[in-house]
Amino acid sequence: MPSEPQSVTASFSVPATAAGSQREKTILNSSTTDPNKILPMKYQWARGHYKTGVANNWVPEEVNMQKDVETWKSPTALSPEERRLIMHNMGFFSTAESLTANNLVLIVYKHITNPECRQYLLRQAYEEAVHTDTFIYCCDTLSLDPEEVYNMYITIPSIKDKDEYVVEMTKSILDPNFNTQGTVNIQKFVHDLVGFYVIMEGIFFYAGFVMMLSFLRRNKMVGVAEQFQFILRDESVHLAFGVDLINTIVDENPAIWTPEFQQTLRANIKRAVDFEKRYVDDCLPTGGVLGLNAQSIYQYVEYIADRRLKKIRLGAEYGSKNPFPWMSEIMDLRKEKNFFETRVTEYQTAGSLKWD
Ligand code: FE
Ligand code: MN
Repeated sequence: MPSEPQSVTASFSVPATAAGSQREKTILNSSTTDPNKILPMKYQWARGHYKTGVANNWVPEEVNMQKDVETWKSPTALSPEERRLIMHNMGFFSTAESLTANNLVLIVYKHITNPECRQYLLRQAYEEAVHTDTFIYCCDTLSLDPEEVYNMYITIPSIKDKDEYVVEMTKSILDPNFNTQGTVNIQKFVHDLVGFYVIMEGIFFYAGFVMMLSFLRRNKMVGVAEQFQFILRDESVHLAFGVDLINTIVDENPAIWTPEFQQTLRANIKRAVDFEKRYVDDCLPTGGVLGLNAQSIYQYVEYIADRRLKKIRLGAEYGSKNPFPWMSEIMDLRKEKNFFETRVTEYQTAGSLKWD
């Protein structure tokens, strides 16, 4: 059974094997883990990601949207294709952020009892709330129709497919009787973590990032694009935490890492790449927009998928090169942000610009 104490009394009781518990502490099914006792800490990576998250703090209101409002209201400043691309990405992200937050709080948090990991999960949950708030802010400032934006996960098939894929993939552990005891259940749990972290946050967000950051490059809708830039920076930390979590579970439970299981995970990621390509087709007109075409974004999605596969030690699938080296450059421009005259304050000069 899960080791999480059921009452306050139980939660402060001394574990029977307290001596040497640091050595025996494991991520899952640890009889020596007291969720209320964060020190001494075993998993320093969880602490590191927490500190990075705090250093990257931001809120959507810091981004000036005035120029975007003028551009959005102008009948000629944007082409219909550019508007479609923005609306599709609003539609996907506006509900995907909440889906991620709910998965995190209702599923991942329940089964990860290690206190330093939970400290990070709380930080991540807050960041997802900031992201959800970002789309409220964008809808408000641009006067978008909330019924339209927040229904796109139902009305736009390529968005619906991505969301349904993630929901379907993470179904088994939603069962209230699910626990992480035994090889099969741990495989289910890791399978679903790959669905949350690697596929949803690590692949399904990235075609959108490249499309929206293309506006930044063209100096159009710079406020919205900058909001996406901040979200991207947060998501790269979420993904890094997810990868460390998955790899640690695998290291501590090597029996789950069978060739069959690895094959299943790889197949899931390949399917996700196909869903993401369909989403790209839906967002972009034939012939492309903003100097982007579907083929180059496909290649980017493959490049990103290879990186994720390698991070969870599955080896590359596509061998695609990064077609958008400017994606990493655009992240490095942050200190010269007044070039775009969009943001006057630096929240935290030490903010990590880790690009993934
Ligand atoms: Fe998010
Ligand atoms: Mn996230």
